[in-house]
Amino acid sequence: DYENGGYHPVSFGDVFHSRYFTMRKLGWGHFATVWLAFDTRERIFTAIKIPKSRQDFIEASRDELDILQVIRDGDPRHVGAQNVVQILNEFEFFGVSKSLHLCMVFEVLGDNLLTLLRRFNTLNLNLVRVVSKQLLQGLAYLHDECEIIHTDIKPENVVICLTEGQLRNLALEAYSSRLWDKKPKSMISTSPEEYRSKYILGLPSKKRKHIRRIRKKHRNKVEQFLSKLDIADSPPKKQIENGTNNANDRSDFSYEAYNHISSFYEELQAGNLGALKNCTIKIVDFGNACYIDHHYSDDIQTREYRSPEVIIGCEYDTSADLWSAACLIFELVSGDYLFYPEASDSDNYNSDDDHIAKIIETLGPLPVRLFRDGRRFNDIFDKRGKLLKIKVLSPVSIGELLIDIASLPGIEARDLSEFLMPMLQYDINERATASECLKSKWLKLCEIRGTTKPKRRDTIELV
Ligand code: ATP
Ligand code: MG
Ligand code: MG
Repeated sequence: DYENGGYHPVSFGDVFHSRYFTMRKLGWGHFATVWLAFDTRERIFTAIKIPKSRQDFIEASRDELDILQVIRDGDPRHVGAQNVVQILNEFEFFGVSKSLHLCMVFEVLGDNLLTLLRRFNTLNLNLVRVVSKQLLQGLAYLHDECEIIHTDIKPENVVICLTEGQLRNLALEAYSSRLWDKKPKSMISTSPEEYRSKYILGLPSKKRKHIRRIRKKHRNKVEQFLSKLDIADSPPKKQIENGTNNANDRSDFSYEAYNHISSFYEELQAGNLGALKNCTIKIVDFGNACYIDHHYSDDIQTREYRSPEVIIGCEYDTSADLWSAACLIFELVSGDYLFYPEASDSDNYNSDDDHIAKIIETLGPLPVRLFRDGRRFNDIFDKRGKLLKIKVLSPVSIGELLIDIASLPGIEARDLSEFLMPMLQYDINERATASECLKSKWLKLCEIRGTTKPKRRDTIELV
């Protein structure tokens, strides 16, 4: 993957764009690796995303950059502007064999909701309220202000922000672990030896000296900055165990490994009001996003979060994101997918058939007139609008699912179901918009259930 056209190999202390001093890898995806870097000009920590350099990746990066610029240029006074990741800068450079990388610089963010779900199975209801509200704010900003459809809303693409202190600890640890083990292990995915021989030793000695000089200059700036940090809760003086540097291991890095962040998540999960008020979430990953009036693809969304209009192949709009949001919120509360299509090779139906069947089981018959024009309508339905391949359905409402799977008390299940149903309307013109959902009373409900006489102070104002 680090071949020509692929990822660019990065080593601790590499300096990009004459200012970004790389400190460790934060993650990777199909298109790019992402690195924690200190911006020696602005004196802040950043995350730099270095996409692969093959022509198709360059084009994909351009589209992503375009969208990110629209997001950055939206009205910052919109309440949801803070719930969408913001790009800070962009730059390009020629990597191995003069291949072009279009890089993006972001603020550094924390773990995503999938990590939290894996750890806690289900999330505390008040935490879900805080997350849902901010997710909807972010969507309102994208839809109303930027005229952008995200198209891939799912737990992985919603992240919890780091607090200032958490970020500093993280950076300090990354830096210290380099200094403590004197022979710095390279952060690249290829072996350190390979990196050195291929990309460093292969360079003319003048160039090598130049790189060393630049690194040293910037390292001094980083050291100066770090030495002034007043960090109460010092990170452990050892390499974090699950922080391997292998680019091919997606779970190579999780902030959860850090005690100071981990305990913050415990507090969120415990419903600690102080922690909940500090908690900010952001929507990330605009690699698949498109404009309301200019779509890039008909086949959008990750399977479990895919809306019926997309499955059947009809027109879609911003309301597709609301469908995904409802699936996501259900999952946070229950720990299970709302719709989980299953079809094996031995079945005489496929995932689309099963997906639509499961949707109908939960939401009732699908009004055929809305979907008849869909490209895949005739693959899934017969002429009378009945499912072609799946005949036996077992209806179960969202409310029942919330009681059975999420073990919610009846009244909680009813309220949450009332909140979710408008986002799950079949008719995309009737489906609630993000701004409309924000008025829902469920977001303002609080944990006073169970106490027979709710006291005033039990009522919390969620942020
Ligand atoms: P995908 O295959 O999902 O399209 P991608 O190659 O486009 O991935 P991203 O999803 O943008 O790359 O980033 C890869 C990983 O890097 C993320 O899953 C996340 O773990 C980490 N990451 C990305 N941006 C940031 C950030 N701003 N702060 C911290 N970590 C980040
Ligand atoms: Mg991603
Ligand atoms: Mg992407």
